[in-house]
Amino acid sequence: MLELHAVTAGYGRGAPAVRGATLTVTPGESVGLLGPSGCGKSTLARIAALLHRPESGTVRLDGTTVTRWRHRAPRELRTAVGVVFQSPRLSADPRLTLGDLIAEPLRATGRRDLVAERVPALAHDVGLGEDLLERRPHQVSDGQLQRACVARALVLRPRWLVCDEMTSMLDASTTAALVAAVEDYRREHGAGLLAVSHDAVLLNRWCDRTLHWREVVPAA
Ligand code: ADP
Ligand code: ADP
Repeated sequence: MLELHAVTAGYGRGAPAVRGATLTVTPGESVGLLGPSGCGKSTLARIAALLHRPESGTVRLDGTTVTRWRHRAPRELRTAVGVVFQSPRLSADPRLTLGDLIAEPLRATGRRDLVAERVPALAHDVGLGEDLLERRPHQVSDGQLQRACVARALVLRPRWLVCDEMTSMLDASTTAALVAAVEDYRREHGAGLLAVSHDAVLLNRWCDRTLHWREVVPAA
């Protein structure tokens, strides 16, 4: 289970970006989180992806309380969650080729031995031609780069996925291809999903159930 209970978080001074959020995703389930721009969805997505530690409340992943660590959760927990952000150009190192970008989590966790097998297979799954793996981010479109970012999020075979406005910069056909790639992965590996978006039509089509921000943060 991915469980957030009464989570409050922000960025230093000022009002918290997220105030008392409670949300559970069960294994294999897909949950959409819908809310307007600026309400705190990205902050909540970063918390669920174990990338942002809340000031109060608890985050539990598969029974382990993640928030008991002072700084970051241990790597074996963080790598259980794959994450895709809205803007591939902000989340992709511009110096790496797309192939290296996809392989990076394997290299960083000592699993270089899996690169040759997993990277071409994932490139295929996300619809990225093998010739594109040699290119760098500035040599491909946003859609091609986002395909690589989805492949990178899947390369460690995470049990959980967090997608934060994954398709909001993409055209309809790339959106459909990447949602299908995520769903194929989830079906094969039984992974749970939290998909955050302002787009109700997308979430209703994609997810088992969709929560509105007001249901997750009752005080909002
Ligand atoms: P959403 O994803 O729903 O648009 P965000 O979580 O990005 O919402 O933002 C929620 C609030 O937190 C906003 O008021 C935003 O300005 C603020 N915020 C987001 N990121 C940062 C940051 N890195 N530093 C300071 N404030 C931030
Ligand atoms: P470090 O400890 O060196 O800062 P991490 O242990 O957090 O790095 O992660 C190592 C690499 O694995 C990072 O470079 C990142 O690209 C990748 N990575 C880690 N977690 C994820 C994830 N949930 N989804 C995709 N890639 C990840």
